Amino acid sequence: MAQVIINQDACKGCGLCTTACPKKIVHLSKDKLNIKGFHPAEVIEQDKCIGCGFCATICPDVVIRVKK
Ligand code: SF4
Ligand code: SF4
Repeated sequence: MAQVIINQDACKGCGLCTTACPKKIVHLSKDKLNIKGFHPAEVIEQDKCIGCGFCATICPDVVIRVKK
């Protein structure tokens, strides 16, 4: 199963990764704030991830890594 690793403190909450995910499992956290004061991206249903890597590719700050 693919594993998505997000460096949440480096995330700027732009939301691009949430639009890129074909499974719609990447969301911006509603209750969490990172050290920069942004709501960071998080994966809600990791088991549904197909490991396509779109979320990692679209992130302008390269804070997402996908392990297969
Ligand atoms: S690797 Fe693909 S399916 Fe998995 S969270 Fe990223 S965009 Fe979604
Ligand atoms: S695309 Fe990158 S910087 Fe933007 S919300 Fe997603 S992880 Fe954060």
